[in-house]
Amino acid sequence: MKVFKFGGASVSSVERILNLGHIMKHWDNEEIVVIVSAMGKTTNALEKVVEAFVTNKKEEALQFFTQIKQQHLSTAKYVLVTHYLACEKQLKDFFTEVEWLLHDKPVRDYDYYYDQIVCVGELLSSTIISAYLNEIGIKNTWLDVRDIIRTDDDFRDADIDWDFTKQRVESIIKPALEENNIVLMQGFIGATDENESTTLGREGSDYTAAVFANMLDAENVTIWKDVESVMNADPKQFTDSISIAN
Ligand code: ASP
Ligand code: MG
Repeated sequence: MKVFKFGGASVSSVERILNLGHIMKHWDNEEIVVIVSAMGKTTNALEKVVEAFVTNKKEEALQFFTQIKQQHLSTAKYVLVTHYLACEKQLKDFFTEVEWLLHDKPVRDYDYYYDQIVCVGELLSSTIISAYLNEIGIKNTWLDVRDIIRTDDDFRDADIDWDFTKQRVESIIKPALEENNIVLMQGFIGATDENESTTLGREGSDYTAAVFANMLDAENVTIWKDVESVMNADPKQFTDSISIAN
C-alpha cells in the first residue's frame, strides 16, 4: 500500500480538487491512504478566529468564521452534484461544533482553543474531497483521524501515543483499506483520551503521512506538490530556474 499527501496548495481551489481526482484515477486498484491538509490558507484564517475569540471579540470571531464557511460551501457546490447535500450536512455539523464553542466565554488557555478551532480546517477539506472522489466514482472511506491518532494534551504541539495509535491503525484503517482501497483522512490533527482535539504543529500533515506510512509499512509516501514539473532550483528563490525535462 501507499500513502499520498496533498497539502494546502494542492486542494486550494476547484481546479486543484479536480486535478486531485485526476491523479487518483491512475491508482484506482491500489490500496492508498490519502492525507489532506486544510484548503489553501484556511489554517491562517482559522488562527484569526482563535485570536479574536480569546481576546473576547466574539462578533469578529464569528464573522471571520462565516467567511471560512462560505468559502467551503461554495467550493463544495462547484465540485459536487449528487453528493452535495450529504456533504453540506457533514460540513454544517463541523461548523456547528465551532460555533457552539465561539458562543461561550473563553475560560481555558489559548493553545486549547487553538486546537479545538483550527482542527476544523482539515475536517472540512477532507469532507469535500472525499465526497468529490465518490462523486467521480472513486470509492473511498472518510475517517476522522481523531479516532485514530491519540495524543497527549500538549495542545499545539501534541505527542503521539504510539501504542494506542498503532492499535487503531490495525483495527480501523486496515479493515477499511480492505473494503474500499482508498482511505481518506486529515493530516495535522489528533485527539486526547478525553476526545479533545489536538494539533501536531504547523505543517504537520507531512508528519501524519509519515506516521501512517510507518505504521502500515507502506511501500512509499508521495507528497504531491502544486507545481508544473521538477525544476533545477526553487523558483521562489531563483527567477531563472528552469524545468527539468521528463
Ligand atoms: N494545515 C496545517 C498548516 O497549514 C497543516 C499542514 O498544512 O501541514 O500548518
Ligand atoms: Mg501545508
